Amino acid sequence: GILGAGQVARMLAQAGQPMGLEFVFLDPAEDACAAEFGSHICAGWDDEAALKELGRRADVVTFDFENVPESSASLIESLCPVYPPPRALFKSQDRMREKTMMQTLGIPVAPFHPVAGRPELVAAVEKIGLPCVLKTRRFGYDGKGQAVLRFQEDMERAWQELGDSELICEGFVPFQAECSIIAARGRNGQTVFWPLTRNLHRGGILAISMAPAFERQLQLRAEAMIQGLLDHLDYTGVMALELFLKDGELLANEFAPRVHNSGHWTIDGAHTSQFENHLRAICGMPLGDTGVSSPSVMFNLLGEMPENVRQRSTDHYPTDSLHWHDYHKTPREGRKIGHVTVTAESDTELKARAVQFAADLGVSAELNLEAIMGKTGE
Ligand code: AMP
Repeated sequence: GILGAGQVARMLAQAGQPMGLEFVFLDPAEDACAAEFGSHICAGWDDEAALKELGRRADVVTFDFENVPESSASLIESLCPVYPPPRALFKSQDRMREKTMMQTLGIPVAPFHPVAGRPELVAAVEKIGLPCVLKTRRFGYDGKGQAVLRFQEDMERAWQELGDSELICEGFVPFQAECSIIAARGRNGQTVFWPLTRNLHRGGILAISMAPAFERQLQLRAEAMIQGLLDHLDYTGVMALELFLKDGELLANEFAPRVHNSGHWTIDGAHTSQFENHLRAICGMPLGDTGVSSPSVMFNLLGEMPENVRQRSTDHYPTDSLHWHDYHKTPREGRKIGHVTVTAESDTELKARAVQFAADLGVSAELNLEAIMGKTGE
């Protein structure tokens, strides 16, 4: 059973079908894009009867987004196992709880301070210093619900914009790179990690993920950070931890208690994808090999599928070097509607292909892959 039937649920079901698994989804959207891969209970996240139906019909329930109400997850848990555990949702849904937990576990994070009112904002900015980032504690995603404060005068504008919500003020991290570590932990505690992935954003939305991208020493540090979270939460399933790399050090930004956009490359570039291992973990099966089969660069596709690029690409790229994933969602400005993973045998080949593909998509000016690729291990 999956709470949510968006593209993440769709990719879980695509991974699960060859494993002989069957899926039932609960999602209020009539045209939810995973629905064609199983049966769809069309109802709200707080519809008790529907949640109970899901809990009765499924052997195990998971979710495809982290804002599932914890009460809904707990209601289902009274009927069948829910993985990842609802306490992981509880922690990840509030940036203050999340950062406090990380700090307690000794995971490095930027300085932070809660902000419950206008005077507290002044105090927080004084304590943390400028520049800093003001964020809503809950329901922020893709850079929404946050504002960067560079000067004292920015405070009023940010307060007008966000002051209706509970807030957290964080130190601004002048990072050299953003990355994420994704891990899967089985019911028995067995844990596996994919390579630390480098992420590039455009307008607050993930644009590109590339892996492998970093040296072994950073990989081991990132693994130790996420292992601390997994063990503390007695976690089952896939978790992603978003990190900043600054002056050779890793700082945690946030964790996602689910498969993650920056791990979509694992479908085509790793021996076992994040989706398959999430299912293996929650179903109590042994976890698969997370080794890289091809170095990869994943491009998110936003708005509408670039059909002209897709058609032309068959002539310009070797067979099996571009992997197109169309989520079959209705096109809408800024909406994630698919992704493409570019793979190659060697790093040099990958760089050439990725640079060419970025140009084909028209994103190369903003995301200077030419300069970035090959330099990420620094
Ligand atoms: P978040 O919603 O926390 O994942 O933030 C979205 C994006 O905003 C991140 O991927 C970063 O690019 C940027 N960002 C968030 N927090 C900070 C911070 N403390 N310092 C610098 N950039 C940040």
